[in-house]
Amino acid sequence: MIRHLLVLLFVVFTMSIGYSQKNCGAMEVLDRQLEENPELFQNMEIIEDQIREFLKQNPQGTGQRYTVTIPTVVHVLYRTTSENISDAQIQSQIDVLNNDFSAANSDLNLVPTLFQPVVGNIEVQFCLAQRTPTGAVTNGITRKSTTRTTWGTNDDVKRSTQGGTDAWDRNQYLNIWVCNIGGGILGYAQFPGGTAATDGVVLDYRYTGTTGTATAPFNKGRTATHEVGHWLNLRHIWGDATCGNDFVSDTPVHNTSNGGCPAYPHLSTCSGNPVEMTMNYMDYTDDACMYMFSQGQKSRMRAVLEGTGARSSLQNSLGCVPPTPGACNAPTGLSSSNVGTTTATLSWSPVSGATGYGFEYKVSTATTWTVQNVTATSVNLSGLTAATTYNVRVRTVCGSTNSSYSTILSFTTQTTSTCTDIYESNNSRNAAKVIPLGSPITARISTSTDVDWFRFNNTSSQRRIRVTMTNLPADYDMRLYRNSSEVAISQNDGTNDEQIIFNTTTAATTYYVQVYGYNGAFNNNSCYNLLAEISGTNFREGKEEEEPSHFELVEDEFVVFPNPTSGDVTMMIPFGKYATGSLQIYDIAGKLVFSQQMEGDRTVKTFNMDVSSFQAGMYLINFTSGEKQYKQKLAIVRQ
Ligand SMILES: [Zn+2]
Repeated sequence: MIRHLLVLLFVVFTMSIGYSQKNCGAMEVLDRQLEENPELFQNMEIIEDQIREFLKQNPQGTGQRYTVTIPTVVHVLYRTTSENISDAQIQSQIDVLNNDFSAANSDLNLVPTLFQPVVGNIEVQFCLAQRTPTGAVTNGITRKSTTRTTWGTNDDVKRSTQGGTDAWDRNQYLNIWVCNIGGGILGYAQFPGGTAATDGVVLDYRYTGTTGTATAPFNKGRTATHEVGHWLNLRHIWGDATCGNDFVSDTPVHNTSNGGCPAYPHLSTCSGNPVEMTMNYMDYTDDACMYMFSQGQKSRMRAVLEGTGARSSLQNSLGCVPPTPGACNAPTGLSSSNVGTTTATLSWSPVSGATGYGFEYKVSTATTWTVQNVTATSVNLSGLTAATTYNVRVRTVCGSTNSSYSTILSFTTQTTSTCTDIYESNNSRNAAKVIPLGSPITARISTSTDVDWFRFNNTSSQRRIRVTMTNLPADYDMRLYRNSSEVAISQNDGTNDEQIIFNTTTAATTYYVQVYGYNGAFNNNSCYNLLAEISGTNFREGKEEEEPSHFELVEDEFVVFPNPTSGDVTMMIPFGKYATGSLQIYDIAGKLVFSQQMEGDRTVKTFNMDVSSFQAGMYLINFTSGEKQYKQKLAIVRQ
């Protein structure tokens, strides 16, 4: 009897997800993409690092900034006429996005007094694209008839080879696909850091805009607001775990997602029982019951759009500017990359109607240009002079006529190296070079893709490891590997020294150090110093106190890596304003398998743990410090 009842309850529950509660596929899609593309995790870590740097450089990042307008293309995929939603319905969706991302939504006045001080005006607007990636006229909407009844969340809708529509250049556009998703999914998004070809937001045609096929209770366009929030790196407000972490400090801890339209105040069952912000766009409540972003969410999104952020190139897009009719337009987006001592790559965006391009370059002080006529949209220059500034420009050839020139771009080649790197080539773990222990070595990151690998052995009597990098000429970071497993990382800002202390007691073996430039940083002219040491007693983190690292800025984040792991796991534990806390690990059945009291120093502490004796499976790690509680999932796999 009981078993039947449970089955029945389960069926009712899963059906109810599809038809009465908001349901977004973003995290499921992220999980799949992480499985398919192991580099994605690293990309997302780099983006989190960039966000920390942005918050450090822009402490007022939540205050008034400036409006960023995002050119948007909507790809409609339809089998039935009702799936082929109208231009007016698409415009109604753009209107909702513009209101919600500028705190100009008419229901903003419903925000309770408690949350009014943290309402965030994201200062982002959206336009339907006025020009295609090649410079042709468009209304920002593509339409394609298909025979597919439903598309699911496997990204087929984004691939013309699968009957979908290919993405437009994600550096210039937000791509939104509207189709019949199926499975009760209202929409899904790709977070920053993923593949270009699948970047964007997918919406079900029944939950797009406010007119036409828009279906209550999701007929106020908030599915797109929520998904564009993910696309700009926001997590669900409940952190996708019980009392989870959404990486935002001014949103309360939520027990889990909320559906429907909760009565205010809705109290969390998490530590401290805070009032949940059920009206936040990143919850699962009905469209009419969500009407705010927070200022902390604004900071996360602005970090992605500004400076070196993953989506900052959108600010330079001409997507919202209509092309001049019939004109032979000058190329845009001229940029340099891989600038070395004698080489550089220049590239630009393709132009509609171009039969070729006239590319020209010269030393900045020279008067005559060297011309190269090409049909591609990039040129590799070689034979340049070191430490010299060059000017480049390009024009479009349209049959017998030429466009005007693009704006002139300058770049300066690197100076010839004054230091020697005797360890090259060591660009992979297999090519890692042995380094001495206890005496510093010098090496050089000479190009944007150069990575240096070193190796050494610890001994059974001296197992603890300390690796220190000093005299950094650019923003370099390093990772420590035990055999093939990453066990620690050091990612300080700028040219601050980097240090990894790994007080391990596990059996002696070979360790590898990987040094790389953050965001492609390199300096062909100057070396860095690296010192590897081993010891029989614990290394102490000497300089931490007088020279605080940027980890203090992320005191609200509980980081666990590598994840999944098969051996060692490193946890960055936020102690907040307390010096003590407790760490528990539960297995999937909720059984406590590990518990330890922790002592910190009111900042983030790194804790290394060997979990090779744990059974493979999913675990929940719970860290409590004072009234603060953090949770992360950990997957343990067997190699
Ligand atoms: Zn979502």
